[in-house]
Amino acid sequence: MTVPQIKGYCPGALRPMQSGDGIVVRIRPFNGRLRRAQADGIATLAAAHGNGMIDLSSRGNLQIRGVTEATYPALIEGLRRMGLLDPDEAIESRRNIIVTPFWQTGGETEALAPALTEAISAADAPAIPGKFGFAIDTGRQPVLQTASADIRLERDAGGGLILVADGSDKGKAVSIETIIDEAMALARWFMETRTDQNRMAALLRDGAALPADHFIPRQKQTHVPAPGYTPLGAMVGLAFGQLPVKTLASLAKQGGLRMTPWRMLLVESARELPGVDGIITDPNDPLLRVIACTGAPRCAQGQAKTRPLARTLALHLKDGAFLHVSGCAKGCAHPKPTHLTVTATPDGLNLIRDGRADDAPDRAGMTPEEIIKAL
Ligand code: SF4
Repeated sequence: MTVPQIKGYCPGALRPMQSGDGIVVRIRPFNGRLRRAQADGIATLAAAHGNGMIDLSSRGNLQIRGVTEATYPALIEGLRRMGLLDPDEAIESRRNIIVTPFWQTGGETEALAPALTEAISAADAPAIPGKFGFAIDTGRQPVLQTASADIRLERDAGGGLILVADGSDKGKAVSIETIIDEAMALARWFMETRTDQNRMAALLRDGAALPADHFIPRQKQTHVPAPGYTPLGAMVGLAFGQLPVKTLASLAKQGGLRMTPWRMLLVESARELPGVDGIITDPNDPLLRVIACTGAPRCAQGQAKTRPLARTLALHLKDGAFLHVSGCAKGCAHPKPTHLTVTATPDGLNLIRDGRADDAPDRAGMTPEEIIKAL
């Protein structure tokens, strides 16, 4: 079996990553939002300096694909002019922040993202590992609990703000005045307490005890976002998180864009979306229940063309079932268990039930036709 290559860091714009289809430049939109001009500008830059394809990642970042060494400098300069870059690589690496897209203008949540960004950018901010991140999930009900994050800003059942270490079902009571300082203090606690762990949940799993003031029960997430119209605008899905530049340019004409970790974008204020190709507006579309990584040939480690395979398999997926199609055992599009996982290998397709891409398969070496019959 081919051992997937682990890169060990999250790419950014200032620290891009080489992939099978060129350099991947990841943009981390400040406060989880792009103004219309920024979204349109990214589409223009990606068309000029990439291969026309953009991915929306599971942390709500945008990845411009197919950049070359020759086009990278002009792309970076364009992003800098639009205010989309951090001051340096170290700050960019630390600024892993997911923000609930359901914030209200003038509300507390809107103010928290820039305040946290400023704290993380400070010279004395803790040097957290590259994949360590924060979730600002301070709407009345949590919506980001399944998104990857290590320190979570949430509300308890009574509406009070709490700070949560990922992996714990309790949080610490905080106020709007203290929550950012407390988040940084928790990050420092993580750095001082860890041995070789890079993630908060792993540290707690290994037996670290949180400070005694983490005793407020968390709310459990019950709301599962889906495409449709909301009071804030239109939530639209993107199959596999793929966002062709034409789709991005069309959406930018409709309104500002809020990022989500669910392969969906919230188009601010949009009441209808006429003529936008490449989006999913039907909440029952089975493609919303299918995750597929980049795969071959765009990812050098891919053992199969994952996305065409995933589109075919989606047509045969049973109601309510979720499918993950992975180009190799690394499973980077979805590192968690799924009802059904199909992992490509040099010897055919592996089918894994209720497991991850690198788990032992229920059946190995299958063809696509055999997978369809087994779904
Ligand atoms: S899981 Fe997919 S995207 Fe990740 S390394 Fe393997 S083939 Fe590439």
